[in-house]
Amino acid sequence: HSPSDVVPRRRRTGIMGGTFDPVHHGHLVAASEAASEFDLDEVVFVPTGTQPFKAASRVAPAEHRYLMTVIATASNPDFTVSRVDIDRAGTTYTIDTLNDLAQQRPDEDLFFITGADAMNQILSWKESSRLFDLAHFIGVTRPGHEFDVGHLPDERVSLLEVPAMAISSTACRERVQTGRPVWYLVPDGVVQYISKHQLYRPESKGGAR
Ligand code: ATP
Ligand code: MG
Repeated sequence: HSPSDVVPRRRRTGIMGGTFDPVHHGHLVAASEAASEFDLDEVVFVPTGTQPFKAASRVAPAEHRYLMTVIATASNPDFTVSRVDIDRAGTTYTIDTLNDLAQQRPDEDLFFITGADAMNQILSWKESSRLFDLAHFIGVTRPGHEFDVGHLPDERVSLLEVPAMAISSTACRERVQTGRPVWYLVPDGVVQYISKHQLYRPESKGGAR
């Protein structure tokens, strides 16, 4: 065989969608475990625009959530952040995220990484079967959330146990609001970003929509 006979391995790319309000170590550990277990070359974090299931609650402005995600992932050469969802007008749907990234990366195999809670929401959507044409789904276990795997298409969904990280963005926001620390729950730079921009304070401007 000459070197030209060797078929190049397709690039394997993880996609980690989330509100990231704020990004925390549960997200980062899940992405890192998925990358290691599924031999991913890159994990793209994709902060949502407006999320359909969160539209009623207060969410920090997309630009803050985007920048915190950039700060949190900056030190990992295999982690990147995409603006596709925050630059698209309107509500974010996973089908649009996957369509946009598939278009940008036609020669890559996509792996959508999602926690049990988000996976159950995705499957309740009308066109959920279309999603499985665009990506393989990696469902990560998450403390406090049960996985109902009964009706999932086996060949397009894998389950991954990540080290138990009982961290949620909701708990981080509540801690900031009540003056308790978020050190070591979120990356140091994110602690400082939250403080610098006064996010998640009771009357804060940064926390308003
Ligand atoms: P909120 O409390 O506001 O819902 P969150 O902590 O669930 O925030 P999201 O941005 O909603 O964070 O989550 C993005 C993705 O990361 C989802 O697929 C979610 O299931 C997953 N995820 C969040 N926290 C963890 C964790 N501690 N371990 C594993 N996966 C997680
Ligand atoms: Mg959530």
